[in-house]
Amino acid sequence: MKSHARVVVIGGGVVGCSVLYHLTKFGWTDVVLVERSELTSGSTWHAAGGMHTINGDPNVAKLQKYTVELYKEIQDYSGQDIGLHMTSGMMLASTKDRFDWMKSILAKGRYMGLDAHLLTPKEAHELMPLLDPDQFVGAVFDPVEGHLDPYGTTHAYAKSAKKNGAEIYLHTKVEDLVQREDGSWRVITDKGEIVAEHVVNCGGLWAREIGRMVGLELPVLAMEHMYLITEDMPEVIEFNRTTGKELMHCVDFDGEIYLRQERNGMLMGTYEKACRPWSPLTTPWDFGHELLEEDIARITPELEVGFRHFPAFNKAGIKKIINGPFTFSPDGNPLVGPVRGMTNFWSACAVMAGFSQGGGVGLALANWMINGDPGFDVFAMDVARYGDYATLAYTNAKVRENYSRRFSIRYPNEELPAGRPLQTTPIYDRLKAAGAVFGASYGLEQPLWFAPAGVEDRFSWRRSTDFETVGAEARAVRESVGLMETSGFAKYAVKGRAAAALLDRLLACRLPETGRMTLAPMLKDDGKLIGDFTLAKLGEGDFLLIGSGIAEDYHMRWFETHLPRDGSVTLEALNLSLVGLAIAGPRARDVLAKLTHWDVSNAAFPFMAVRRMDLGMAPAIVGRVSYTGDLGYEIWMKPQYQRYLYDLILEAGAEFGIRLFGLRALNALRLEKSYGSWSREYRPLYGPAEAGLERFVATGKAAEFIGKDAARAEREAGGALRLRTFVLAAKDADVIGDEPIYLDGAVRGWVTSGGYAHAAGLSVAVGYVPKEIADVESGWSIELLGEMLPARLQPEPLFDPSGARMRG
Ligand SMILES: Cc1cc2nc3c(=O)[nH]c(=O)nc-3n(C[C@H](O)[C@H](O)[C@H](O)COP(=O)(O)OP(=O)(O)OC[C@H]3O[C@@H](n4cnc5c(N)ncnc54)[C@H](O)[C@@H]3O)c2cc1C
Repeated sequence: MKSHARVVVIGGGVVGCSVLYHLTKFGWTDVVLVERSELTSGSTWHAAGGMHTINGDPNVAKLQKYTVELYKEIQDYSGQDIGLHMTSGMMLASTKDRFDWMKSILAKGRYMGLDAHLLTPKEAHELMPLLDPDQFVGAVFDPVEGHLDPYGTTHAYAKSAKKNGAEIYLHTKVEDLVQREDGSWRVITDKGEIVAEHVVNCGGLWAREIGRMVGLELPVLAMEHMYLITEDMPEVIEFNRTTGKELMHCVDFDGEIYLRQERNGMLMGTYEKACRPWSPLTTPWDFGHELLEEDIARITPELEVGFRHFPAFNKAGIKKIINGPFTFSPDGNPLVGPVRGMTNFWSACAVMAGFSQGGGVGLALANWMINGDPGFDVFAMDVARYGDYATLAYTNAKVRENYSRRFSIRYPNEELPAGRPLQTTPIYDRLKAAGAVFGASYGLEQPLWFAPAGVEDRFSWRRSTDFETVGAEARAVRESVGLMETSGFAKYAVKGRAAAALLDRLLACRLPETGRMTLAPMLKDDGKLIGDFTLAKLGEGDFLLIGSGIAEDYHMRWFETHLPRDGSVTLEALNLSLVGLAIAGPRARDVLAKLTHWDVSNAAFPFMAVRRMDLGMAPAIVGRVSYTGDLGYEIWMKPQYQRYLYDLILEAGAEFGIRLFGLRALNALRLEKSYGSWSREYRPLYGPAEAGLERFVATGKAAEFIGKDAARAEREAGGALRLRTFVLAAKDADVIGDEPIYLDGAVRGWVTSGGYAHAAGLSVAVGYVPKEIADVESGWSIELLGEMLPARLQPEPLFDPSGARMRG
């Protein structure tokens, strides 16, 4: 056994072997994989081996596409047969709502070049004669699906890695991990010790335990999962004989089952509602190549539907039932990337679809380790998308919910109930009493809209029960004044003698003077966006940075890797130790003026001014800025003052008819200003020129900020894309994001967000199109729920294009 290695990968499942292979493929060959037993000794060996490209998140779909396309490469390179069966597949819908959902998935696939298309039940039946066409309203055909042999595939990755120079130590269990002074790791195994520059946790079923070795509680939980294999079925044999083909994969969403051919019979699996976590607290180290006890009663309700939808199963004998555990994160996506606060400790776990995603996870992680960047937009899989709220019990609640809903539709206006309410702000009860319908984001309850008594969200793809009320909230802001809770933003205090120098390096903007704020894009080395913030300078060496709430850990990881270690600057995520309220609308200043002795006239407190200001008796920080694009103020306070200030503002605003508004109205308001938002318009895929943020990138400033050269290059060459706003001829539904944008009938771009801009009375889409065509005036359309909606390019914001309202 080596005593030193550049990387130790812990775990020889499909994910660990893929990571190992990708590291060697990109030139890191001093790498070792340590496996406590044989390869595939976790969930990998009993997987059904199914894989596909389609995924609700296009960025994840890209990595799945990569994974599927990789299989031939590793088979050829390693000489190891992986038992690849590219059968193609179909997703089936039994209801109109489900079919609408499929159309949206299909549309998303279009701009990625996925060659999927719709099928009628009759066409579906012709391709898959085991199904009863009367049970379905339609299907989507996906040519890139199939299954493979999990054992062969894992060994193909492993052999390829070995061929490139990697070493694999079997029957070697990592028992502890200790970080040394210089940041390297002591990997302590039962066969000796290896000192490694980097450690990767690919522990699968034991990933949680490996995390605990370094003091981490990773949000990952294993669930039992069952599938059955039938005896030979004459219908299958006959199909194979007459067509010369294998039967294709099927996912029957409403039946909540998946199936594929297995030898001369079929395999059928389900994500049952009565699901069961496995080893919820600790995974036993002596668990190995064994199966869990089958429990057919638990999956009977789903199988009954499946057997009705696929009647040939009724006559088939069941040869065996496999019950095995595999792991999930709270949202079902993997946990990949560098772990915040640790040097060179990497996560590649909670991969619930190792055969669809393992290649992409290996690619992204190897890129990240070698180049400092995953090379893709992997936020949906990033281990940093969870904060400390994702505890063991929270994870348990969310994973069970996610597992049991795996085949359920999640409507765009649907908020899932498990694990809630968890974090609330001091005014939660007041907001609730006022009718707030909450959504949870980053574990925090946030008001979406304020429902009249007796009205609640009806989940739908189309405009729903909130439409009128959200409209009234948005109009109240435009006509008079609205109040909203803003505690969900991330807030960072940056302090110290080197605070300005740090921010000047991290952020692409010019730093504001004391008492001023600015918009502050943050770039990566390649010049793409890694954040967008509002930066307020409260005094010398005293800054407040406001950003996206969901990206708090993600951004803290970035900040911390660039923080000087000499104590000259501190950067703290304030989370709920600073909470917020915002007022916006033409009467917002009148409300504020009633609360303070400070002069808040336009001359004394202009747009983008910021100041510590007592409101009533409460100390607060007030910034003259509003994401509504209107005259407005963001007010930050310690939590103990929030209830007081909430009451005070409502009381002061009563004479102006102040109205509470939520995140849905805010979305409508920002859309009519064409304001982008983090994780939608602003993502690590886009450069500032592309995203329309170029004017905030100060390539002329003296400081060498991260991404400066690349930003300069983008400015000269202009980037490839442009963010544009469109007005849509929508009827009863609005876009939400990821719909394809067409020019003259060809897909040319994609929507990043959209909705109904209530105050303007128009349906709006914002999205990216190639720069060359970005200003073409006509010929645009956007696909929504299977329909092509004519779209009009909207060159300037629908509301207040000159900015007179917010500046006046
Ligand atoms: C019944 C069933 C059906 C499935 N069907 C499919 C399917 O059709 N398609 C699909 O894509 N996925 C499927 N899956 C999921 C798939 O199995 C997982 O996504 C995949 O196996 C995850 O692989 P992994 O490498 O992350 O983890 P594991 O396979 O759990 O591998 C982890 C490895 O790490 C080793 N290890 C752990 N701790 C240590 C330590 N301290 N020291 C050394 N070694 C250690 C373990 O021994 C193990 O070999 C299925 C799962 C089940 C249970």
